[in-house]
Amino acid sequence: MNQSDSMKLDEYLFNFTDNNTEKLKERFFELLILYSLNKNLNLSIQLEDLLNTTINFLKDSLKIDEFCFMLLDNNRKVLKVWTADKATFEAAKDVTFNIGEGISGIVVQTGEPIMIQDVNKDSRFLYYKAKLPNIGSFLSIPLKLSDNRIIGVLNIHKKEINAFKTDDRIFFSIIAQNLANAIERARLYEKVQKEAMYDDLTGLYTRRYFFENCYREFSESVRFGKTFSIILADIDHFKYFNDTYGHPTGDAILKELASILITNVRHSDIVCRYGGEEFAILLPNTGKDGAAFTADKLRTLVETNLAEINKSKDIGKITITAGVSTYPDDGNTVDEVISKADKFLYLGKVRGRNMVVNSTPVDSTPADKTPVDTNIVSENSLLQDIAQH
Ligand code: GH3
Ligand code: MG
Ligand code: MG
Repeated sequence: MNQSDSMKLDEYLFNFTDNNTEKLKERFFELLILYSLNKNLNLSIQLEDLLNTTINFLKDSLKIDEFCFMLLDNNRKVLKVWTADKATFEAAKDVTFNIGEGISGIVVQTGEPIMIQDVNKDSRFLYYKAKLPNIGSFLSIPLKLSDNRIIGVLNIHKKEINAFKTDDRIFFSIIAQNLANAIERARLYEKVQKEAMYDDLTGLYTRRYFFENCYREFSESVRFGKTFSIILADIDHFKYFNDTYGHPTGDAILKELASILITNVRHSDIVCRYGGEEFAILLPNTGKDGAAFTADKLRTLVETNLAEINKSKDIGKITITAGVSTYPDDGNTVDEVISKADKFLYLGKVRGRNMVVNSTPVDSTPADKTPVDTNIVSENSLLQDIAQH
């Protein structure tokens, strides 16, 4: 909203016409509505909450039954339906407008609201590309941020013709500006949340998100007597790999490896990039045998598939070593369970790499549950091994 726009709004709200009591009451009521809107918007930091707050506000406080929010897509080229009343959403959810197309497209292009008291008489009106033929009057307002950027439009429609008051244009512009700023703030919040959740390079979850989930899983396990396991995996001799083939090739390998991990675990498992070339997986409701089985499956897939994907580059074999630990067998806190996995991982490195280490002695693992038992090693056998070195 530019300076003259905001002066218009101030005039609208504060210059009560000719001591007209009815008008005064109306303005007072509108100010109350704006006050309550802003109070609610400030509470809605997440987009989902904001969506509900907005719909309730339009329906309950403003008694508007037919509305549609259209937002510009990421490329700022196409308007898409964000939310609408139920009937409008069902009919028009897939309708899009280019900038300049239809009334919504023109409003985004010019940044000015358009009010049409009888849409039949305006050839620019497209009835949401014929999806909503039953519209009489129409008000389209730009969703304009405080810095004048336009992020979409708020459309209000009514079945009757001549259903809007002249003042509605300005009043809804104020509403739309407040909503636009709230939508933008919620989108920024979600963006920051997403960045904290996903690793840039691999697209896997971040260490922080992994830990949040570990603590949540731990509480659940304590409460309901459940179990969970952790796999910590580290690429073998990756420094040598980087030094030989270069950092960009190393990055490409990290991405490919991440994709192998994510596509070969359960949907409920949380795979994260734990550090540079270390990965951690949280396996809810999974005991030691199951987790060791998964870890060894991943180890084998990495060993075979990474070389296969990179056949043409002649980079040789890339392998991982993994430590697997389980709650409550390996510790009574998240930190204890993770540090046990770390210890097993270290033991695997000492033993010669490209293997999975868990705490179950090989001898006592039932034969039918041992996947590739030459590569799953018990703590006892390793400790003996280290002692012999
Ligand atoms: P090992 O784990 O088998 O003991 O040997 P390593 O050489 O893999 O061990 P170390 O942890 O000492 O080295 C990790 C190396 O991983 C260091 C660095 O070259 C590489 N690395 C870490 N983060 C990244 C990354 O984001 N991209 C690339 N390309 N390399 C990374
Ligand atoms: Mg490492
Ligand atoms: Mg390593």
